[in-house]
Amino acid sequence: MVYDLIVVGGGPAGITAGIYAARQKLNALLITKNFGGQMARKAVAIENYPGFEKISGLELIQKFKSHLKKQKIDIEEATVSKIKKIGGIFSVSTGNKKQFKSKTVIISSGSDPRPLEVPGEKKFIGKGVSYCTACDAPFYVGKDVAVIGGGNAGFEAAIALSSWSKKIYILEHNSKIRADEIIQEKVKATGKIEIITDAVLKKIQGENFVNSLIYQDNKLKKNKTLKIEGVFVEIGSQPATSFVKGLVDFNEKDEIVVNPKTGETKTKGLFAAGDVSDIIYKQIVIAAGEGAKTVFSISNYLQKNGWD
Ligand SMILES: Cc1cc2nc3c(=O)[nH]c(=O)nc-3n(C[C@H](O)[C@H](O)[C@H](O)COP(=O)(O)OP(=O)(O)OC[C@H]3O[C@@H](n4cnc5c(N)ncnc54)[C@H](O)[C@@H]3O)c2cc1C
Repeated sequence: MVYDLIVVGGGPAGITAGIYAARQKLNALLITKNFGGQMARKAVAIENYPGFEKISGLELIQKFKSHLKKQKIDIEEATVSKIKKIGGIFSVSTGNKKQFKSKTVIISSGSDPRPLEVPGEKKFIGKGVSYCTACDAPFYVGKDVAVIGGGNAGFEAAIALSSWSKKIYILEHNSKIRADEIIQEKVKATGKIEIITDAVLKKIQGENFVNSLIYQDNKLKKNKTLKIEGVFVEIGSQPATSFVKGLVDFNEKDEIVVNPKTGETKTKGLFAAGDVSDIIYKQIVIAAGEGAKTVFSISNYLQKNGWD
């Protein structure tokens, strides 16, 4: 069977594309590693999605997912490992060794947390190193922990951790904090969070679990040790695109270059939407809008190619 459309990703862009595809009566399949994407990592409530003054990331995901599941669309929970175009048709392979064929594809695979790439990081994943404060904070009741990254995400993670942990350090490698003023005030109000600037993480250490980290104090030019039992990584994201190399162009941030009006990539029939694309602003409402827009482009594309 050849689908009209395969959507890759179950975040705001992919789920919205799925809903719109069903409403356009496209014969569509949505393949995703998991539902929710980055919303699942949101440590504090979402306060800027219209219709919901304040809602947790997990709750919003459930609402998106249940809306999608009411539509006429096939769903496969799997990781896409490769996309090829053969004779005008896309072949999409998944980690569970299946292959699906489609006339068009939307890549809406968003982004993954950027790793620290310091010794000890990989060894202690799940044993003190976490990329998801919203998921893991409750495991650190009464403990001292560190958040790496002094942007909004790092500050929000520290605020969320302050409900559970005894003391939270935020390590920022620059001399200036990048988080918004309003979030900085919330951090101060907890009375539990210490911000360390000019701090370059060198190593995470422990035995079975993390027990400390070493950072270089760039002002004093010497290494210091912090005794902590958890390291929460909040240094940004990287686009999830390994499966589509060769078919698309990337910008300097490794985002997929698209025509901003249509979401088309350089390969005919292959589109991208949401955070994975080079659309400048990265927000839930924008990703959802991009997903919807791209499905309209695809409907036009299918009609123009006599595929409707
Ligand atoms: C900590 C944090 C806080 C944020 N706070 C806010 C906020 O308050 N308000 C706001 O509007 N935005 C916020 N954002 C940004 C917002 O979450 C993103 O802009 C939005 O989630 C992008 O949606 P997306 O669908 O493009 O990608 P994602 O949400 O990244 O979803 C990508 C999807 O693709 C799937 N996927 C990835 N690779 C594959 C593969 N190979 N095969 C199959 N599936 C795959 C993933 O499992 C996931 O389901 C925040 C982001 C972070 C990280």
